[in-house]
Amino acid sequence: MYLTEEQLAAIKEALNVQRDAILYKSQSWIEDDFEPEVKGDEADIANSEGIALTLDRLQSRDIRLLKKLEEAIRWMDDEDFGYCENCSDEIGFKRLLARPAARMCIECKQNQEQVERGYYHPRRRKPRNEEDEI
Ligand SMILES: [Zn+2]
Repeated sequence: MYLTEEQLAAIKEALNVQRDAILYKSQSWIEDDFEPEVKGDEADIANSEGIALTLDRLQSRDIRLLKKLEEAIRWMDDEDFGYCENCSDEIGFKRLLARPAARMCIECKQNQEQVERGYYHPRRRKPRNEEDEI
């Protein structure tokens, strides 16, 4: 293990902060009680459906990230925590602190993204989001 006790504690803190942020956000969505507008002219309907779709996508994205964060919290108990699941190199403290759900080193992650772009996303239409980096 190349990480010190202090570094591990800092990563654990980062994991908990990210997890709590998602849980808090999902709670406030429930309280907002969002319902798409079904009356009005076509433009209004299209607009409100767009908002509903965005919320759905955000939520499923957050749910995926939440699962990754919880996996990472469990992974911290293993001896191989912090090593790339692809090449077994050290992921590194700075990367883990910034992206505590990361399971791969930056080189492997970039290679994977290139492969994914090549096969599945010949043109990147959406702006990069946080999950792309994990
Ligand atoms: Zn790697």
